[in-house]
Amino acid sequence: MRILLYRADGNTAPWIKDFADFMPEAEVVVWREGADLPPCDYAVLWTPPQAMLADLARVKAIFLTGAGADAIMKYSHAIPPHIPIVRLNDAGMGIQMAEYVTHSVLRYFRRLDEYEAQARAGAWLQLEARDKADFPIGVMGVGALGSHVIEALKPFGFPLRAWSRSPKSLTGVESFHGSEGLDGFLGSSRVVVCMLPLTEETVHILNRTNMMKMPQGSYIVNVGRGAHISEPDLLPLIKAGHIAGATLDVFRSEPLPAQHPFWQEPRITITPHISALTLRRESVGQMVGKMRQHARGEEVADVINRTKGY
Ligand code: NDP
Repeated sequence: MRILLYRADGNTAPWIKDFADFMPEAEVVVWREGADLPPCDYAVLWTPPQAMLADLARVKAIFLTGAGADAIMKYSHAIPPHIPIVRLNDAGMGIQMAEYVTHSVLRYFRRLDEYEAQARAGAWLQLEARDKADFPIGVMGVGALGSHVIEALKPFGFPLRAWSRSPKSLTGVESFHGSEGLDGFLGSSRVVVCMLPLTEETVHILNRTNMMKMPQGSYIVNVGRGAHISEPDLLPLIKAGHIAGATLDVFRSEPLPAQHPFWQEPRITITPHISALTLRRESVGQMVGKMRQHARGEEVADVINRTKGY
């Protein structure tokens, strides 16, 4: 078996080592533009360069080193539909998301963002305690990662809401779905956590109109993709106090440009796309398991539905 590997950062050695550990019988071929490549069975990559598309059209399946498919969907026209594009399912990202989101939610609920600002100003002042009943947490997208986050939040006793594409029945969670469920979801969530895939339907889902449906003084945590938020709409809503704070891990343009106004807004907390990092060994282990299934002619899970876009 031959695996075609592409890493934009060029750091292929640790991936080759992990594939050797998990699949010693496989040969890993590093993709390089213009190189004379032998025929490969599977490709492993995140965003392919344009020049790689012809080679991708010749493999049996493509394995993404991330959970989202948006990076490759823009090239999907060049990849024949019979070639499955397989994403990572959790692979150690669920627990990281749970840590990140739980931390962000508790920071707002316990007003630690305000205490941080007070401490910088040398102010000793106890703020009023909040009531959990007034602090429902709404998770947009309750797939592999969102459902992990919901479970992590349960022990704290917040009212929980979920919004998905299809109807869900989650114990202890008020579930909403589809465009008809969006207003009810947004209107009853004090913190909105975006964990959606980026698709034609979800781009700019958090625009001014939708953010205005959230209660006054709400919070946003975005760990999905930057383009889920209409960035120019967010800042005025924060300045007006309608949105009390936002924790953003993903941005329309990454790295976030130095002149971007978000850097200057203390109520926006910025992290550099780290809420759930790809853990290489977990990911290689999962991909190898699926490659073996595919090679045996078995059905492989987590194939991107190209019509839905995720
Ligand atoms: P899944 O595909 O498992 O789950 C996606 C969820 O979003 C599902 O519940 C799905 O609904 C819902 N959804 C999709 N489209 C819509 C829509 N139009 N309206 C309402 N709900 C919708 O994905 P994962 O949980 O594995 O990952 C989610 C996203 O997290 C990734 O696509 C990626 O963008 C982001 N991510 C970010 C990382 C980071 O470091 N910041 C790291 C990893 C992922 P349904 O259940 O009905 O299908």
